Amino acid sequence: MNKTIQFTEELYTYLLDHNLNETSEQKELRELTATMPEAEMQISAEQGTFMQFLVTVIGANRTLEIGVFTGYSSLAVALALPRGGSIVACDVSEEFTNVARPFWDRAGVANMIDLRIAPALETLDSLVAAGEENSFDFAFIDADKANYVLYYERCLELIRPGGIIAVDNTLWAGEVTNREKTDEDTVAIRTLNRLVHQDKRVVSTLINVGDGVLLATKK
Ligand code: CA
Repeated sequence: MNKTIQFTEELYTYLLDHNLNETSEQKELRELTATMPEAEMQISAEQGTFMQFLVTVIGANRTLEIGVFTGYSSLAVALALPRGGSIVACDVSEEFTNVARPFWDRAGVANMIDLRIAPALETLDSLVAAGEENSFDFAFIDADKANYVLYYERCLELIRPGGIIAVDNTLWAGEVTNREKTDEDTVAIRTLNRLVHQDKRVVSTLINVGDGVLLATKK
C-alpha cells in the first residue's frame, strides 16, 4: 500500500517553511534560475537543505559535484561546509556556471569551489589518477543521465568509507516505471537504481525528495 502522502501547494509551502533558512544569495539565485528556460534542471529548494543536513551529519570537508548548472546546489553545500572545506565542481557549461559565480562570490564561498569546466569523467579520472581515492566525503551527481553508472563508479572510488553519494532525478518524474519509455536517459536511470540497490559495496536508499534522490554510503 502506498504510504507516501500527496502534496498540495499548501502542504508543500508548509514543508518549505520548515526547511529553508536560505541566505539572500541562495534565494536570489534560486529565483533567478527559476526564470530561465532550463529552470527544471535546478534542484528543489528543500533538496538544498537536505544536502546541507547530510554534509553536516557526516562532517564533510571535501566534496564532489557532477553537474553544477547555475550553482544552487554547490552554493548550498558550500555554505554547510566548515571553513577550509571544498567542492570539486564539474560541468561543461561556461554559460550556466557563469550565472553561479557572482552568487558564490557574494556568499563568500567562491574560494571553496574548484570549478572544472570539462567532461566530468575526465575530471573524475584525473582525480583517481592523482591518487585521490577514498579522500572525498560527499558526492552529488546531477548531470547527463546516460553517464550515471560511470559517474557513480568513479565517485564510489573517490569517496571514503562512510562518505555519501547522492544522485538526483532517480524517480525521473515517474518515468522509471513507464514501460514505453526506453530512451537512453530513462534506461540509464533504471540501470543505476538497480545496480546500487544490489551493490554490496554500499548501503543505499531511494527517497522521494524532489524528483527522487538515490543515496548510497560506502561501507
Ligand atoms: Ca537534477
